[in-house]
Amino acid sequence: MIKFKDLKIDKLILDALIELGYETPTPIQEQAIPLVLEGHDLLGIAQTGTGKTAAFCLPILHILNQRKLKPSPKSPRVLVLTPTRELAIQIHDNLKTYGKYLPQKYAVIFGGVGQHKQVQSLGQGVEVLVATPGRLLDLSQQRLLKLDKVEIFVLDEADRMLDMGFMNDIKKIIPMLPSKRHNLFFSATMPSVIQALANKILECPKKVEVTPPATTVALIHQEVMYVDKLEKPALLEHLLKDKALKKVLVFVGMKHVANRVVEKLEKCGISSAAIHGNKAQGARQRAIENFAQGKVRVLVATDIASRGIDIDGITHVINYDLGNLAEAYVHRIGRTARAGSEGAAITFVTSEEKINLVNVERTTKQKIKVIVNQPFHSVTAEKAAAVAAPKVRSRGGRRPQSKKRQKRRLDR
Ligand code: AMP
Repeated sequence: MIKFKDLKIDKLILDALIELGYETPTPIQEQAIPLVLEGHDLLGIAQTGTGKTAAFCLPILHILNQRKLKPSPKSPRVLVLTPTRELAIQIHDNLKTYGKYLPQKYAVIFGGVGQHKQVQSLGQGVEVLVATPGRLLDLSQQRLLKLDKVEIFVLDEADRMLDMGFMNDIKKIIPMLPSKRHNLFFSATMPSVIQALANKILECPKKVEVTPPATTVALIHQEVMYVDKLEKPALLEHLLKDKALKKVLVFVGMKHVANRVVEKLEKCGISSAAIHGNKAQGARQRAIENFAQGKVRVLVATDIASRGIDIDGITHVINYDLGNLAEAYVHRIGRTARAGSEGAAITFVTSEEKINLVNVERTTKQKIKVIVNQPFHSVTAEKAAAVAAPKVRSRGGRRPQSKKRQKRRLDR
């Protein structure tokens, strides 16, 4: 089995990895690191949880340290573009950790907070800038940031960028970069729009693909519980009586549901916090940190707010609401089986959500075990089963969304 030391990475980076206890690269790291070190453009098809952040951070740090160029104010040499603030912060943290013995400087910028500190850090000169698209454009329009010295460009989670409506921003950012540059492009899925974007950005790329859905899903103990909508809070409370549910990430469909679930749990004396788009950045960050450190047992999140959250040791994921996209299910439950560890996922299913369950089972190609032995088991929901099944559309064949549905999506 290949080890990090076989990958010809700078000793100073290896020392940081040893301290972290990383010995063996994950499959994406093993394949991507040598290619990036050789200077190839890269198309990485991988999702969060596969170790993709280190797959690009480690060779970038190595290359930067070899080039030994002085940082110039406001003009980063590496730009990492990522869709969410949480992900941006995590990548920045990872860079600082992996590069702790290197002299390079790293900065992170994202919206929703004042720009002053971010501008200050840029002014001091940084090698690597991690950014979300909106704030990046904003600061460059104010001439507080220049992209003309970028040598390496990383586009992370390209498909999420599309989901979150950042496509236009990206199209504005690309022409601001030098045309000759080294490009690394990551996406969990490759719908045609993303493939077209990759073709536009990358030059003769090497493709690296890891298929975590099947492997990740296989490691996770999954269960379904049929329940009537009004009994979901009682079922959640019932499950949380079990102390084995130590660090629990609960997914809900809408912001107001997240707040309501937290209120109910707090009334029962269960420490919990909510993260969703309406929460201020500081509050979201605090909630995530408290959860990561075990001060809060339950974190309740909407899909968008939870993107890219990287927290170790989540024992259980509970799908309080089951969304209508099977891929979201795979992403959600993947939070509990990080880097090869095992985890458990429990999914609540009402009669209305049965159709979504059929979709999930088709995508993951497995039937999820149903637990009937629970006090809130709903026979109605269970019976809703077969009726919906033949009408299910496969992935990619999504119906145009109704106005009402679009509104609900925007409300997340
Ligand atoms: P990512 O897919 O980049 O979000 O990484 C998922 C998790 O795996 C993070 O908690 C990393 O710190 C961890 N990780 C990444 N690479 C390795 C490795 N080679 N060995 C052990 N843990 C790793």
